Amino acid sequence: MTFSIHGLAVARGIAIGRAVLVASSRVDVAHYFIEAAQIESEIERVMVGRNAVVDEINRLQDSIAHMGPKEAPHELTALLDVHLMLLQDEELSNGVKHWITERLYNAEWALTTQLEVIARQFDEMEDEYLRERKADLEQIVEKVLRAMMGVASPVVPPSVRATRKTSQQDLLLDDTVDVPLILIAHDLSPSDMLQFKQSVFAGFITDVGGKTSHTAIVARSLDIPAVVGARLSSQLVRQDDWVIIDGDAGVVVVDPSAIILAEYGFKQRQNELDRGRLTRLLHTPAVTMDGQEVELLANIEMPEDAAGAIKAGAVGVGLFRSEFLFMGRQGKLPNEEDQYQAYKRAIEGMQGLPVTIRTVDVGADKPLDNSLRDNAHLNPALGLRAIRWSLADPAMFLTQLRAILRASVHGPTKLLIPMLAHAHEIRRTVALIDRARAELDNRGIAYGAVKIGAMIEIPAAALALKVFLKYFDFLSIGTNDLIQYTLAIDRADESVAHLYDPMHPAVLGLVAGTIAQGKAAGKDVSVCGEMAGDVGFTRLLLGMGLRSFSMHPAQILAVKQEVLRADAGKLAEWAVQVLAQEESPGRRRAHRGLLHGPETFADRRDESADRREEAAKRAKRH
Ligand code: PEP
Ligand code: MG
Repeated sequence: MTFSIHGLAVARGIAIGRAVLVASSRVDVAHYFIEAAQIESEIERVMVGRNAVVDEINRLQDSIAHMGPKEAPHELTALLDVHLMLLQDEELSNGVKHWITERLYNAEWALTTQLEVIARQFDEMEDEYLRERKADLEQIVEKVLRAMMGVASPVVPPSVRATRKTSQQDLLLDDTVDVPLILIAHDLSPSDMLQFKQSVFAGFITDVGGKTSHTAIVARSLDIPAVVGARLSSQLVRQDDWVIIDGDAGVVVVDPSAIILAEYGFKQRQNELDRGRLTRLLHTPAVTMDGQEVELLANIEMPEDAAGAIKAGAVGVGLFRSEFLFMGRQGKLPNEEDQYQAYKRAIEGMQGLPVTIRTVDVGADKPLDNSLRDNAHLNPALGLRAIRWSLADPAMFLTQLRAILRASVHGPTKLLIPMLAHAHEIRRTVALIDRARAELDNRGIAYGAVKIGAMIEIPAAALALKVFLKYFDFLSIGTNDLIQYTLAIDRADESVAHLYDPMHPAVLGLVAGTIAQGKAAGKDVSVCGEMAGDVGFTRLLLGMGLRSFSMHPAQILAVKQEVLRADAGKLAEWAVQVLAQEESPGRRRAHRGLLHGPETFADRRDESADRREEAAKRAKRH
């Protein structure tokens, strides 16, 4: 039966495919397709891992047998028996074999997929004792995964594909067609998402997450349809169900009828045509109708993303989120040489165009490692994050600074510091940059002339800009955090996503004030938060005087189209009126009339609401 789930639209476009449910495991699991010739060895890898855990339990049972009843309570022996039984259960091993043989999933992927299938069955059990055995199953699968880490894993084939042949008779799609896979998980960390960068999935759905959570940001950078905050999706959708993601409307349609499939298939092709049309703007300079030049830069997460930035027509990188080099390494930080090589690759990849490297911004919803998730702090977003983390570990920070400075000899480089709020933090940061330069001088190592900038992403920074203008060459406004901290809502929490309002007058005031003061002081100001890549805001930001936008490469052409159609002079007059509104202008249709001027950006913002309604109606109709 067709039903739809509503979440938050994070990455545009339509994806149609089969659901792959990913169990929430604390062990990072790779997902890739194997070749048919590898089937036997993949099954063998799981069996070797499983047998290692069986041996471990047997050894434990032996040692327990030699203990007295006090040291080895009966419950422990019973628990180990349950673990052995679950491990040797045929449903687990047969299921794993099925996913490897029929779908060519790699061993770890097959194991976690089967875990998900069996876990569902446990969830549905009436007996509470049996229901609770799900936790045991998760534990033993985790043990097998860990044991498998010690078992040689084949190299991931370089050409992992986004689709897989299916043998099912499928609605409108015949069995000779490659069927895309859609990943559904309760939650995915930014480092999980990163793993999926060269992956097999054509779309993502998560139960939790906000529109500007880092998981959503990475999903957007992959430029494939995604919906987050789709609450119960990982429970309502079953393994292998047909799913449609409407990434524009934030809607997931499950088990669609043939008519719905055809309708979305049409929409998907239409989207592709629209995108194709935009490519004609690739080599057109971004200049407004009244001759204002606008800089359109790319946000990247990995050095290899530079190629995509160039391809999308970016005139530089406005934000290289260096923290992704630090994640998923079991807490082991990259050394100076590793970092230098990575920054060098990004700089060389940009072929002489400027690259702004932001120093590490871990913490909050970007843990270094999944297993190191910091649940100890109640408010990680307000905790030891970004520059606070760097200043707390000067040796680590100096290592990164030296690596960036060294890499700057390979092309124009700028250094960007996140999350600053205090004058003393600024002074310490500047002192450490000087020290990093001095250390390189002492070692006789060359470095380039690097401009230093600060992110303006804490309201205190925007309100006390003078000290920033004194010490820094340029400013970059991080609207994602600026909105989070101004409105006191967690950007990663879908339950307060409705309060995440980029058009709140306080937010617009801080953004406009930063642009105006920066300009008056003769400093470059750019916006690198998600607002910069949202065409609904291009005209307003231009009206505020912004001339530098940094965004996901996939957004550049759409934003360029807005710039080419804009008259910056007229927009400046109109922006003054928008800034004078006492209520967020685009939140309700009723506000449409409030906006005069050349562009009703409220209409554009409401398009997404319209699309959601349309999608809901469509799902109901069928
Ligand atoms: C921001 O806060 O707007 C920003 C660009 O940084 P990040 O999203 O990485 O926190
Ligand atoms: Mg930020």
